[in-house]
Amino acid sequence: MEVKDAILKVTPETDYSIFDQIEAKDHEQVIFCSDPEVGLRAIIAIHNTSLGPGLGGTRMWPYKSDKEALLDVLRLSRGMTYKAAVAGLNLGGGKGVIIGDPKKDKTEALFRSYGRFVEGLAGRYITAEDVGIDVRDMEWVRMETKYVTGISRALGGSGDPSSVTALGTYAGMKASAKKVFGSDSLVGKKISIQGAGHVSYYLVKLLAQEGAEIFICDLFPEKAHAIAKEFGARVVDKEDIFDVDCDIFSPCALGSVLNSDTIPRLKCAIIAGCANNQLDSETVHGPMLIERGILYAPDYVINAGGLINVANELEGYNREHAHSQAERIYDTLIDIYDHAEKLNIPTYTASNELAIQRVRQIGRIKQVYASTSNYSGRLGELNKR
Ligand code: NAD
Repeated sequence: MEVKDAILKVTPETDYSIFDQIEAKDHEQVIFCSDPEVGLRAIIAIHNTSLGPGLGGTRMWPYKSDKEALLDVLRLSRGMTYKAAVAGLNLGGGKGVIIGDPKKDKTEALFRSYGRFVEGLAGRYITAEDVGIDVRDMEWVRMETKYVTGISRALGGSGDPSSVTALGTYAGMKASAKKVFGSDSLVGKKISIQGAGHVSYYLVKLLAQEGAEIFICDLFPEKAHAIAKEFGARVVDKEDIFDVDCDIFSPCALGSVLNSDTIPRLKCAIIAGCANNQLDSETVHGPMLIERGILYAPDYVINAGGLINVANELEGYNREHAHSQAERIYDTLIDIYDHAEKLNIPTYTASNELAIQRVRQIGRIKQVYASTSNYSGRLGELNKR
């Protein structure tokens, strides 16, 4: 979140060193990709590869400046290191950004050119879809590089990760209930969900099966009504979702929903949802939740099912294995909550600490030369040093 703030502070007058920015967050490598003939300006940031190749999606966005793009890719790639580490995956953190307008600037040549830069990194970075990128764009990237994951089932990949993300979110809700209520049963628990999209569909299905009382809203009320009808939930107006008297509030739509306007309105004991970047500001709104006595399941921990899914694709996709890994989010969150309680720190700080600890420990054991890799499949190949 400091980086987001930093973006706002960047002005032409700002004294700006690219190496200072790279070193400030301990990045290993940043690659600037330029191909003026096809209009490609992209940056790939590899944050840390102690655990494995840097994995993270490529985003296409009309950044106002190169600096803004750089800060965004540095922030996002570091987040991927933490996310993979705390999910117990043998992956590092990476991210790519293409500077451009996704509505106007997409061409086959641009994405194939980008794909060649990814290929040139020889597996240090593996890419996937992110904001502004769709299936067709990734198909072009894949024409030039094998280092792409999160591919559709039709093309032999793992397909839409939403059901695995929902399973992980459900496991995370149960762990949070265990911590707060002493039991992980969600029977009769009131759960209000913001967003009736892909993940929410599977999440509501699991919650309804268990017997939770569900409230749901969406920007497009018909989406909320469709889910409510199928699984027996109650539809709430999108403006009223923060006021629902409930046990668990589950943000499953947008980022920055936990802010100075919404937090005072919440009437819940737990926040546990799949949306990315839920806290508008970690430093301001994290403490505000603590003051209000609300347990916050760090977003990148509870929504790691999607990453777990694409990581499994790299090893030869096995849905059962992906599901059992997503269910382990339960234990991961319990560890994070215990660590936070022991040190009296916010839960998101506790998860960052545990992520860094794993990166350091596993990075250290790799100092010992081993003649063969412990890993199998394609990920094993990528992990060989
Ligand atoms: P989605 O686009 O299918 O669903 C999001 C829904 O939220 C849409 O129906 C949209 O209309 C609704 N919405 C937007 N603004 C809203 C508002 N102000 N109030 C109420 N509803 C609103 O997305 P998804 O795949 O279900 O993902 C949901 C969230 O989880 C996103 O933040 C996404 O980045 C994150 N996430 C998803 C996955 C995954 O596997 N799909 C993995 C990790 C994180």
